[in-house]
Amino acid sequence: MPFSDLNFANKKVLVRVDFNVPLNADFEITDDTRMQAALPTLTKILADGGSVIVMSHLGRPKLGFEERFSLKHLVSHLSQLVNREVKFCEDSIGNKAQEMATELKPGEVLLLENLRFYKHETAGNLYFAKELSKLADFYVNDAFGTAHRAHASTTMVANFFTGKKSFGNLLENEINNLEKVLSAPKTPFTAIIGGAKVSGKINVIQNLMDKVTDIIIGGGMSYTFIKAQGGKIGSSLVEDNQLATAKEIMAKAEKLGVNLHIPTDTIIADTFSNDATTKECDIFDIPEGWMGLDIGQNSIEQFKEVVTRSATILWNGPMGVFEMESFEKGTKAIAFSVVGATAKGSYSLIGGGDSVAAINKYDLGEKVSYVSTGGGAMLEYLEGKELPGVQAIRQKEGFKVKEDS
Ligand code: AMP
Repeated sequence: MPFSDLNFANKKVLVRVDFNVPLNADFEITDDTRMQAALPTLTKILADGGSVIVMSHLGRPKLGFEERFSLKHLVSHLSQLVNREVKFCEDSIGNKAQEMATELKPGEVLLLENLRFYKHETAGNLYFAKELSKLADFYVNDAFGTAHRAHASTTMVANFFTGKKSFGNLLENEINNLEKVLSAPKTPFTAIIGGAKVSGKINVIQNLMDKVTDIIIGGGMSYTFIKAQGGKIGSSLVEDNQLATAKEIMAKAEKLGVNLHIPTDTIIADTFSNDATTKECDIFDIPEGWMGLDIGQNSIEQFKEVVTRSATILWNGPMGVFEMESFEKGTKAIAFSVVGATAKGSYSLIGGGDSVAAINKYDLGEKVSYVSTGGGAMLEYLEGKELPGVQAIRQKEGFKVKEDS
């Protein structure tokens, strides 16, 4: 059942959110995007007359309590966002948490301390998950960013909520949007894959190969494809152990009739710096000592043409070192062409840390169909893997786990 159809009146709902927000030295939140993203779920439960027990991780604490990772620093901001008092429990499980959860009335909010102060959380410990489950009578997972991890609060806990578990609004949205490109996408379907390395994206490319009409390759990974074809790439980024993989991808694309677009020209630099001397050249003929840091004008024109005629566009990874102004032209041009196609009715999904950073750099987040919030989780979903956190909600029965795990 969709999250919006559920009714949480008088229910105590344990909600796993991703409140892994950046804090400054004074423990102030410097970017609350992740908290904002969880709001629709929290407000829906509260508006229904339910109460929420919010749980999250923050940072990577080593062992036990660390002041800088305490979720108590989020209490006052969360309170503003949900427009009511937020109670805070200095533990995530145990007597105190149990007591506070029991006393919670409809419309009230309880925030638990950082789950990762317990090593049991990332270990996916069943006992810890069971203790968490005792706090509530319904479980909602709204943390897409950690859905690819079989942690206690993202996966194991669902085992104790058979028939009483659901995705939250954000997680449901993420999956629905990813499914738009994975199952029966409107064609032509173009996947734009960029970023640093072939090795990081190979599984995504493989899984998309029989779904797409076109694949655009950009960024640092292009040079491995060029070298694999015998091109001279100077000192550009290359993964010599992926040359065979690049050849395989090219052969498979040809076999399946997928149009594989690899840059034909590039912007080269004499150093990896914004102030480097730059030139445009044939990507197959980069002089010694020079490195390709962006796609060239011909490639931009060619890629724009492909994007413009696409009905579905998936974009993961920049076309060049867009963080430096001298090498952002390709990424920026692609971003604007994705926006243009979206305005004309195409569906566009942007995901993966750096493409999201790029789309936000040009303030275009609102002008594409969907921007995914989960980097690693999105990549794994696109690779065709079942994410443990997603599977745990979908599974009707409690899944089989060893009691001593
Ligand atoms: P990824 O995390 O794999 O998506 O890689 C993103 C990173 O790749 C960004 O930080 C870019 O600066 C970098 N990148 C893109 N193109 C190149 C290139 N031609 N050479 C080196 N790094 C690149």
